[in-house]
Amino acid sequence: MEAALKNPNSVSKTITCKFCERLFEYEPVLFNGREMFPLVSCFECTALESEKAEEADRERKHKDLLLSWEKIIIADIYNETDPSHSSINPIAARLCLQWKFERRGKGLGLVGKTGIGKTRCLHLALKQAHLAGHSCFAVRHTTFADAVEASYSDDKQERARAADVIRLARFCDVLLMDDLGKARATPSRDEAIEDLIERRTGCGRPILWSANSGGEWLIQRFGPDRGPAIVRRLAEFCVIPNLPR
Ligand SMILES: [Zn+2]
Repeated sequence: MEAALKNPNSVSKTITCKFCERLFEYEPVLFNGREMFPLVSCFECTALESEKAEEADRERKHKDLLLSWEKIIIADIYNETDPSHSSINPIAARLCLQWKFERRGKGLGLVGKTGIGKTRCLHLALKQAHLAGHSCFAVRHTTFADAVEASYSDDKQERARAADVIRLARFCDVLLMDDLGKARATPSRDEAIEDLIERRTGCGRPILWSANSGGEWLIQRFGPDRGPAIVRRLAEFCVIPNLPR
């Protein structure tokens, strides 16, 4: 019966599979009498090998992501965090572990006294987004503010470095802004942070941020012109849990 279904013009070829070493018969694809894509392994082994190759590829990508993660973090101590560690606020840790990047999704704002692991927790959320393949960037408010200043520098290299920081902060999928409000206030620095928050929230790019004090303090810090707008944006576009203040 099987023989009857075969194309009478076809030729079959028998090879020894290079993996399982069984004899394997298949119909070669001929073009002008020459075989195109000759097989070296049986169908089962070919499928198995391609699965292995995919797995190796996934592993390599994961390793690459872990290596690139080390370049994103604000400091080495944020590379690995044990979310159940006693120094870490459990509400913040749970929220950060549950957080998932979504375009137009909400960010997270952790407001509370120092020493409850806010920055560590935010790195947990950022790492998950990074390992899921989203572009991530982490920066302290002070570093961002310094970059704003350096973008007017006479030094070309310094200007270029500053431009990188500002560009990454603007356009990455997920931004971690640590210690918001900590940078010394100047009109250009504060304008830049307001502009950054407006741009990101306006186009649905979430911000993960921390601050030592809440809305009232931020309004005072950024003054009557910018403070209320900044706080309104952050409140609208971020989940802000109640943490010990
Ligand atoms: Zn085989």
